[in-house]
Amino acid sequence: MPDAKVRVAVLGSTGSIGTQALDVIRGHRDRYEVVGLATGRNAEVLARQAAEFGVAPECARLCGDSITGVDGPAVLAELAAHPDVDVVLNAVVGFAGLPVTLSALEHGKRLALANKESLIAGGPVVAKVRARGKGEIVPVDSEHSAIYQCLRAGDASEVHRIVLTASGGPFRGRTRDELALVTVADALKHPTWDMGAKITIDSSTLMNKGLEVIEARELFGVGFDAIDVVVHPQSIVHSMVEFHDGATIAQLSMPDMRLPIGLALGAPARLPQAFGAMDWAATGTLTFEPPDLEAFPCLALAYEAGRAGGNAPAILSGANEVAVAAFLEERIPWRAIAQVAAESLEQGVGNVTEVADVLEADRVARERAYAVVARIAARPSGRTNVGAR
Ligand code: MG
Repeated sequence: MPDAKVRVAVLGSTGSIGTQALDVIRGHRDRYEVVGLATGRNAEVLARQAAEFGVAPECARLCGDSITGVDGPAVLAELAAHPDVDVVLNAVVGFAGLPVTLSALEHGKRLALANKESLIAGGPVVAKVRARGKGEIVPVDSEHSAIYQCLRAGDASEVHRIVLTASGGPFRGRTRDELALVTVADALKHPTWDMGAKITIDSSTLMNKGLEVIEARELFGVGFDAIDVVVHPQSIVHSMVEFHDGATIAQLSMPDMRLPIGLALGAPARLPQAFGAMDWAATGTLTFEPPDLEAFPCLALAYEAGRAGGNAPAILSGANEVAVAAFLEERIPWRAIAQVAAESLEQGVGNVTEVADVLEADRVARERAYAVVARIAARPSGRTNVGAR
């Protein structure tokens, strides 16, 4: 039995990961206590959550549009650093998660990391803070949680490669030409996972997998040549680690984010409650296939940006956020998301040593991406493509 309850701040509490985390905690109040909550705009849900979990008003905060809000980043960083917090769940969407990641690590917290962009855009800065701080990162993302679990089967020096699995998204099997006219509604239909809009679109382009490749490198310190992606549409094998002797260790469970969330809150201890346990009689076949880089160029772009290093991942991630928003607003076609990211990267990359460099890279990325989006949106063909069947 745990002596004292683990005190958790759930930042991004009204989103998909945030609400599932609260669901996990709701079932394990003997282990966990919610002491902080934050969300962007959803005041009503936030108030309900604060009342249910007994969170003090000053620790249940509305941050506006997070990074663009006047005090959003400061509020998030403050909550992540709060002395009463043991575990910070960073489930903030997008680049706005960076202050949470840095603040949690700086203050020696356990960071249960669901926000990809902070680690990707701020990689070199996060690595610095991580090296000097007492904080630790436990990944929440299903793939990285799987790798975290598989790595326990051997020594870090024995790892031959990491194999990230990808569901392939709703457009798996389609050719580049067949993807010219896909709509927002098509792209939002994810076959196996129920997630927020941004990550669902990222999943349809495989940008999500590309960002996860960069994230895996940052989290586990392996080179890009030792990270592979395999498409596995059933989303049951969440990722694998192959060791030098040829043994591959995989983590399997039905798609349920509450498993990796529960593990991240208490790792290495496992919860006594099962989420997504296998039903072998109903599982049928597990299939694996290589990703189609021509139809899904975002994956190759991510490897390119990751290998370039410096601010290239920040530019990729920032430009992608702008492009995805423009696609969701039906201003650009789906295939243009990759084009916006590629053209933003082509305009040059630089170094990152401080937070200011990350912020600048993000600003530059957005500026470049807005310009590309404006150009594409002004094209008559671009307009008629959008929404057409
Ligand atoms: Mg994932």
